[in-house]
Amino acid sequence: MVKLAEWRGKEIFRKYGVPLPKGHVVRSPSEVAAALQSAGIPLPCVVKAQVLAGGRGKGGAVRFASTVAEAEAATQAILGLEFKGEVVREVLLEEKLPIAKELYVSLTLDRSRRLPLAMASAQGGVEVETVDESAIVRVHVDPFPGLLGYQKRQLIAALGVTGPVARSVDSLLDLLWKIFEEEDAELVEINPLAVVGDRVVALDAKVIIEDDASFRHPEFADVKDDRTPLEEIAREKEIAFVQLDGNIGVIANGAGLTMATLDVLAEFGGKPGVFLDLGGTDDPKKVTEAFLLMAQAKPKAVFLNIFGGVTRCDTVATGLVEAMRQVPPDAKFPLVARIRGNNEAEGVAILRAAGVTSLSDLKESVQAVVAAAGGPA
Ligand code: GDP
Ligand code: MN
Repeated sequence: MVKLAEWRGKEIFRKYGVPLPKGHVVRSPSEVAAALQSAGIPLPCVVKAQVLAGGRGKGGAVRFASTVAEAEAATQAILGLEFKGEVVREVLLEEKLPIAKELYVSLTLDRSRRLPLAMASAQGGVEVETVDESAIVRVHVDPFPGLLGYQKRQLIAALGVTGPVARSVDSLLDLLWKIFEEEDAELVEINPLAVVGDRVVALDAKVIIEDDASFRHPEFADVKDDRTPLEEIAREKEIAFVQLDGNIGVIANGAGLTMATLDVLAEFGGKPGVFLDLGGTDDPKKVTEAFLLMAQAKPKAVFLNIFGGVTRCDTVATGLVEAMRQVPPDAKFPLVARIRGNNEAEGVAILRAAGVTSLSDLKESVQAVVAAAGGPA
């Protein structure tokens, strides 16, 4: 997921002609005066922390300033702040528009219906999760013809706007669809979409670019995403590796088995701290690399749950034993293995010879690893 900060989202909006307040991003209070001037931002202005988390309005990360000095002070106060775990490094200065009404519009992917989904609500400004379901209109969009006239009218009706404002929303929806499609977005959200005079203006922008399309967007290559440093290394090595906040490492093969393993672990009071999906690989070198990465995450115990279908249990076991040898003594952890399937007996023998607890029952092995990590939470 390439989540774009508001100012980057708005840069995309600007490129497509979405109406926006005048704005400029700064990284230090010393840039404020020049930024206000060069972008022609009148006072009073809005000073907004550029973090990915929502709820900035309520959390004091959106401020107003009526003089240049106040804008500098607000920038100074916001930069370096930690907002929901994220340090503010960039601040967006914007003209403060007189808002008549705050609306909500978005385009996202409804994965269960396998269709783009347009949403609109007259209750904008607040987080959409807190808006009553009945106040949100949802329209699924066939990607081939795109957002159609009658669908736009449904959305506009939900927003409760008429006349010139409605026409302004109508062209905005066309642009939103164009952005969603051409920029490979999985989310384009405007909250609030403000009614200002007889038109609408995007006061906020939340854009997420689909990961699988990121190769088509070199312009976002430098966007910091929420991967941890270890996840970053894993990504380079093409290893499916995700860090969570528990203390048990999970190694499994295939997304289905990996997810199911996490669930069973949680069921027995275990807290997964990192998981690794070996996929179809039984390349001992790759298994070793993945395992060493797991060791760096410092799990209390590791559960290996492998089904040998295409993958052979003995090759995975060989890779694993080799990897265990390479783990530095201070990073060692207890390992509980459950390997089933192809060449199972050979695999189990290799693991047992290396001192690994190797069980065949899922419940027993999960309980063993939870105990090894210090008992159920
Ligand atoms: P979020 O809370 O993180 O989603 O941040 P938003 O960008 O949505 O801003 C939160 C709130 O600040 C908005 O709902 C508006 O009420 C207010 N706000 C943001 N920009 C402006 C502006 O240009 N003019 C005025 N009057 N209010 C603004
Ligand atoms: Mn918002």
